[in-house]
Amino acid sequence: MLQQTTVATVKGYFSKFLERWPTIQDLAAASQDELMQCWQGLGYYSRARNLHKTAKIVADKYHGYLPNSYHELMTLPGLGPYTAAAIASIAFGESIIAIDTNVNRVLCRLFAVSSSGKIQKIQIQEIADSLAHSDHSGAISQALMDIGSTLCKSKNPKCADCFLKNNCLAFSKDLQNILPLKPAKTARPKRFGHSFIMRHKNQVCIEKRPEKGLLASMYQFPSSEFSSEQTVVQYPIKSEWVHIGTVRHIFTHFELELTLWETFVANTNNGQWTALSNLGNYGLPTMFKKALAYVKI
Ligand code: SF4
Repeated sequence: MLQQTTVATVKGYFSKFLERWPTIQDLAAASQDELMQCWQGLGYYSRARNLHKTAKIVADKYHGYLPNSYHELMTLPGLGPYTAAAIASIAFGESIIAIDTNVNRVLCRLFAVSSSGKIQKIQIQEIADSLAHSDHSGAISQALMDIGSTLCKSKNPKCADCFLKNNCLAFSKDLQNILPLKPAKTARPKRFGHSFIMRHKNQVCIEKRPEKGLLASMYQFPSSEFSSEQTVVQYPIKSEWVHIGTVRHIFTHFELELTLWETFVANTNNGQWTALSNLGNYGLPTMFKKALAYVKI
């Protein structure tokens, strides 16, 4: 839940999750729709799907207990090198350092690593591996995380108060406000799409997105593909369509401009009908919630 998301945002969701599914087995037995509904508003929905897949694997293959090695943890959906190393070192005492943004920053400064991008990643991994020879890798990982979040902050590091300053190469060279170097930013590409809001009395038509890809298995108003160029609108049914607005939404890898069309119809085979007041019970991604603001009730 905390990937790309702050503790303040996650807090409420986390307690709701634990209340509803107190054990891994409970989570494994939940339906994906229930899970998506609880995840609504938290974004990055692939995390929810991966969490569900992992719960099922842990319940079936590992009798409800997480496997205890980095390599086995890495086989679970949604667990990347950082999470796997954090669990392996902190919970199971494996000699491995968990590298998150804080740890990366502290190590970059301590060792004055002046590369960026992939090279920086490789160099930091080598440094972390050289620190992971003791039984205390979990404690070292947590200490580095704490130093990064309290002293060695991204802006204005508190070097005067830092007990590592006599061993810190960045501090000795006055590079603490420059390192770590960031790779040059590339502009986010734009994509375009159309979304079709079909209404009948107080009901609206929704459909489930495909099981794979962007916003997999979430609900949406029937929509076109998202393409890299503006496309001519192709309405899903013959009707009187009215342009009611445009929604812009930023995804990790692109920015979407979604043109909204509305019509009132008696029937359609394009999805399922639900009361507008009932939409909260579906995993509706944020951009379609934004679209709802244009729907006059
Ligand atoms: S001395 Fe400054 S730059 Fe070096 S680790 Fe401490 S806070 Fe970070």
